[in-house]
Amino acid sequence: MSNLSLWEQESFYSTQDIIIVGGGFMGLWTALNLKTKNSSLRITILEKNITPLGASTRNAGFSCFGSPTEILNDIENIGLQDTLEIVRMRFNGLERIKSYFTPKQIDLDNCGGYELINKDYKYFDQLDEKIEWLNQQLETITEKEHTFVRCDEKIAEKGLIGFDAMIENSLESGIHSGKLVSALIQKVQLLGVTILNGIEMTSWVRSLEGMHVFTKQQIRFTANQLMLCTNAFGNEIAPHLNITPARGQVIVTSEIPDLKLSGTFHFDEGFYYWRNLDGRILIGGARNTDFEAERTTDISGSEMVKNKLIEFLKQHIDPSYKYTIENHWSGIMGFTENKKPLLTQLDDHVYAVIACNGMGVALTPIMGEKAADMLLLYF
Ligand SMILES: Cc1cc2nc3c(=O)[nH]c(=O)nc-3n(C[C@H](O)[C@H](O)[C@H](O)COP(=O)(O)OP(=O)(O)OC[C@H]3O[C@@H](n4cnc5c(N)ncnc54)[C@H](O)[C@@H]3O)c2cc1C
Repeated sequence: MSNLSLWEQESFYSTQDIIIVGGGFMGLWTALNLKTKNSSLRITILEKNITPLGASTRNAGFSCFGSPTEILNDIENIGLQDTLEIVRMRFNGLERIKSYFTPKQIDLDNCGGYELINKDYKYFDQLDEKIEWLNQQLETITEKEHTFVRCDEKIAEKGLIGFDAMIENSLESGIHSGKLVSALIQKVQLLGVTILNGIEMTSWVRSLEGMHVFTKQQIRFTANQLMLCTNAFGNEIAPHLNITPARGQVIVTSEIPDLKLSGTFHFDEGFYYWRNLDGRILIGGARNTDFEAERTTDISGSEMVKNKLIEFLKQHIDPSYKYTIENHWSGIMGFTENKKPLLTQLDDHVYAVIACNGMGVALTPIMGEKAADMLLLYF
């Protein structure tokens, strides 16, 4: 589209202090933090879908800050300090959710989290020493001497088979992420934030009047500041963001009578995760079986990953359970190379806060606050 045709877009909307693009967790937490700190701000969120459809309504609802093998792997890749900083943000983000919403509002289930480990794990023979060391590192964050506790004896109790070790983290919970999105929407709307659904931003142009935001729907918006919370879709409007999209897929079984599984479960550095969802098993992951194919913003899932998840269930869930697969969906995450979420400036008064690297439930409350603080410097 040339600028000439863009300027022909109709503008019948009053100038906003801030336009947020993307109505997922990040956009909503940014708006909530802004309004909490400055209630007079005029804020509009533009969301291209009827409901947010990237990852926030399509995730697994793990309220987690990292499993032991995942944290150990991150330490090897990005170093101890950066890893602990990310874990601290996740932990604080989860606390923030609990301070804003009641357990009932978001179906918070303090069920505890577990990581399953097999003998082929590279540190299996040093597992106890590794856990002890990790617990020492995490103590200043969780204020718990033993965040992770080995509990192999509970594997069978949970109706699981084919694993050699299990580590418990009693601080982990499950939530209903759709309910969290709804509760956030209600909260920001009550504070006076406008959310416009079905509006897709295509580009922006700066002028003396402020930032002009052009949309596919041929409506031009104007704002003093612009914040992109478009996660994996950011590349479409700001290619230099260079965010790697990663599709996550989930399947849900039919109801399983007498399902013993309680808790949230992780395996293989977080590449597989499952939980009890109202008497059914929700299992997701297996992205590592074909990284290349899953590096996509295409929201339709793939049979290959779905079948991997079905196979995993057959291998690791009590064979006496009878179930069918009733649901399968996918969502799109955004990744950075260093695993750190990104808050960056793209232009004068244009910013982006994106890429929670698959942990947005926990990270968006804190990243949304950082984004809000950056925008508030202007007011
Ligand atoms: C299958 C799966 C399971 C997951 N499980 C967990 C979990 O258990 N725990 C956890 O912490 N995290 C989990 N995640 C990750 C978590 O869901 C994300 O990190 C988080 O939702 C990201 O929120 P966001 O607002 O940044 O992005 P999104 O939710 O993707 O929101 C971005 C929004 O921007 C909109 N948008 C994009 N471009 C435009 C545009 N041009 N104009 C207007 N709107 C636009 C999109 O429609 C979208 O609604 C999971 C993700 C997936 C896919």
